Amino acid sequence: DCKKRSRNGWSLFDQGMAQRQLDRLQIESRLRQALEQQEFHLVYQPKVDLRDGRIIGAEALMRWNNDQLGQLGPDVFIEHAENTGDIVRIGHWVLEQACQQMRQWLDQGVGLLPLAVNVSYRQFAGGELVTQVRQALARHALPGHALELEFTERVLIQDVPATTLCLNALRQHGVRLSIDDFGEGYSALNYLRRLPIHGLKISPLFVSGIPHNRSDVAVCEAIFGIARSLSLELVAEGIENPAQRDYLNQLGVRHGQGFLFAAGLPADALAERLRRQAADTPPR
Ligand code: C2E
Ligand code: MG
Ligand code: MG
Ligand code: MG
Repeated sequence: DCKKRSRNGWSLFDQGMAQRQLDRLQIESRLRQALEQQEFHLVYQPKVDLRDGRIIGAEALMRWNNDQLGQLGPDVFIEHAENTGDIVRIGHWVLEQACQQMRQWLDQGVGLLPLAVNVSYRQFAGGELVTQVRQALARHALPGHALELEFTERVLIQDVPATTLCLNALRQHGVRLSIDDFGEGYSALNYLRRLPIHGLKISPLFVSGIPHNRSDVAVCEAIFGIARSLSLELVAEGIENPAQRDYLNQLGVRHGQGFLFAAGLPADALAERLRRQAADTPPR
């Protein structure tokens, strides 16, 4: 009878819905204990200078390993954690973990490698972000500029006065602030010029088509123009081949991330690259 059912669009649709509902419940119930069970870890994707490929920082990216569900990427589970509210606790852990890692690299003689941490709109709404950031930096004796927070345009539209207060407080601590996946979201250009932010990140969505796709090129150039006129740092994400790197370099984009340089790396592997880099070339 399976055949008959699969020809019926509605029952197929219902099955898909039911499956997704089941997945959602599975993920959400396992997420609740994931932190206590130590199922999360961070990997670090290098951020490089596009002119010479030197690593100048890294972005912390979450990974989740669950016995039942296997390895899940943040693109799958973050949204669920945001729906349940678990992201507030989990995000706090990420912040702590990233600061602890920077401290460990310093103590190991690797040096200070600034880390970027992704922050959910729910963490901004929670009201404890500034305190958490201040405490994490103090606990690990780190300067504010060691830490960069990345958030999406969604944050900027939820409660503008509260968000601006929060961003200003973070900036006063020296923390760097960037808008992630710029151009993918709501692009409140009007707010942009009034917010105390340092940088924009161009989404892989637009980088993937350059240099051949004309509309992707147009979007990258437009974002470059906005960044330049507002004096914001620009990072291009999702650089996978030399043609993309060369195009961005020639456009004047200074910094980038992508599989061409490295995917997210375990902390030790990144430290090893930094040691090699320091041995190869004297620091600028
Ligand atoms: P994002 O912050 O924009 O991170 C960049 C994503 O692009 C990462 O996926 C990264 O692995 C991927 N990527 C890097 N280089 C390339 C490339 O050359 N080509 C392509 N196609 N993709 C590339 P990932 O690790 O799966 O993370 C996905 C998203 O999950 C992140 O997007 C971020 O929004 C969210 N996320 C990750 N970690 C955290 C976290 O700790 N907290 C929060 N709130 N969100 C997180
Ligand atoms: Mg990011
Ligand atoms: Mg991004
Ligand atoms: Mg993203």
